[in-house]
Amino acid sequence: MTQLKSVYPLYLNNKAVQPNTDLEVTDKFTGEVAFRVAQADRATIEEGIAGAVRAAEPMARMAAYERQAVLQHCVDRFKQRFDELAYALCVEAGKPIKDSEGEVGRLIDTFRIAAEESVRMTGEVQPLDISPRAKGYQGIWKRVPIGPCSFISPFNFPLNLAAHKIAPAIAVGCPFVMKPASRTPLGAIIMGEILAETDLPEGAFSILPAHREGADLFTEDDRLKLLSFTGSPGVGWDLKAKAGKKKVVLELGGNAAVIIDADADLDDALERVIFGAFYQSGQSCIGVQRIIIHERIYDRFRDMLVAKTKTLVAGDPKDRATFVGPMISQGEAKRLDGWIQAAIAGGATLLCGGKRDGAMLEATLLENVDRKADAYREEAFGPLALLSRFDDFDAALEEVNDSKFGLQAGIFTRDLFKMFDAWDRLDVGGIVINDVPSYRVDNMPYGGVKDSGLGREGIRFAMEDMTEIRNLVIRRN
Ligand code: NAD
Repeated sequence: MTQLKSVYPLYLNNKAVQPNTDLEVTDKFTGEVAFRVAQADRATIEEGIAGAVRAAEPMARMAAYERQAVLQHCVDRFKQRFDELAYALCVEAGKPIKDSEGEVGRLIDTFRIAAEESVRMTGEVQPLDISPRAKGYQGIWKRVPIGPCSFISPFNFPLNLAAHKIAPAIAVGCPFVMKPASRTPLGAIIMGEILAETDLPEGAFSILPAHREGADLFTEDDRLKLLSFTGSPGVGWDLKAKAGKKKVVLELGGNAAVIIDADADLDDALERVIFGAFYQSGQSCIGVQRIIIHERIYDRFRDMLVAKTKTLVAGDPKDRATFVGPMISQGEAKRLDGWIQAAIAGGATLLCGGKRDGAMLEATLLENVDRKADAYREEAFGPLALLSRFDDFDAALEEVNDSKFGLQAGIFTRDLFKMFDAWDRLDVGGIVINDVPSYRVDNMPYGGVKDSGLGREGIRFAMEDMTEIRNLVIRRN
């Protein structure tokens, strides 16, 4: 049986330190304190930033094979500590154990991809003699690490979303300070423990759970050259306004939609839509919130969705049978419960679910929801999906775009023309055909438009953000 320790350190300039045990982390299902973690104060964060500044040059001088070796070490150790990592997620995030194992699998993929990409950073030879003025000139450009980076990660994928920042930073040779989510710091702390086993230059990394006060340094310190933030849109855009001259990447939220066209394979779509809507209690930025169904199949698919949703096992995330675990807190469950009740009061029909017990909210389906309702317009970030019908594909595309967000969209169709039409017209970062918007593989470009963010992750794309192009012009006389 996997056990967690009762106390964990933070990582400052590559080393474990235990200045206090201030941060209590609860088991999200029982609500009891599961372990305590050291919390960084302002002075500690400043030390971490100063260490990252010192490490910038030695990191930039590391050879590609040395950076690759660090990433490969992480891959090996994650495999060895697979069960412990999955259990940590299950406890601190309340994530059902099967989903937790899935996340550790993705963590391994993410570092493996970064290990491969770390030896492939290339540039280009560019002829510059495009006019008589430039005769005899030739250019070559390469990528150099941008310098010390600041990373802030959210609660819902404590390992893999931290990995999407840490792994590309090591791949290109950038030191970093990271603030994991206070509700789920352990995934990143264990990554720190594993990175501390490597011979990265001193100051290469600090993993610093932190209070709000002091956390402003992650955004505002001008020595940090890039802020990469994953979290809620309100916080993300606010931090961007305070980030000064540094480059900013924002991976924020959404209210993703999936279109079920009349020719879709409904049995196949059913499994995927249920997964997209309710896995880890809908707490995914690309969770299915809006299901837009062709009217010819609407009644049939609605009945299939309702019947399947009623069979989902809810309860203790440590139990292998559990599909729907708790939300991250009672407060979050109450917030979404309020939106569901308000939508019903505004004329929506409750198809199933709708009851709450503490942080446990039933998987809930609504139809006829007013498009002005919070449940429709805002990010539900919980186990709620809304059904609507369309008769014309153009109207379905317009409904997907009727959102302030634009992360990903899914379409179940066999029609190639509709696929290309959607690819042209949907205002989102990515479109998934014959699967849900919740689909993500860790090497693909991933990110949003509109309120959903700025920039892309997906190792290679994050590596580009973590580098600057440095050009070399040569005149041959
Ligand atoms: P959150 O915005 O509350 O917190 C995210 C992180 O920011 C945490 O580490 C938090 O402690 C920190 N933070 C909050 N205020 C801060 C401040 N003033 N200064 C510095 N740090 C601050 O988000 P959350 O509740 O942890 O995560 C859920 C949100 O994340 C949802 O909106 C979800 O859609 C989004 N998300 C987006 C992606 C993506 O890749 N696009 C992935 C996962 C989650």
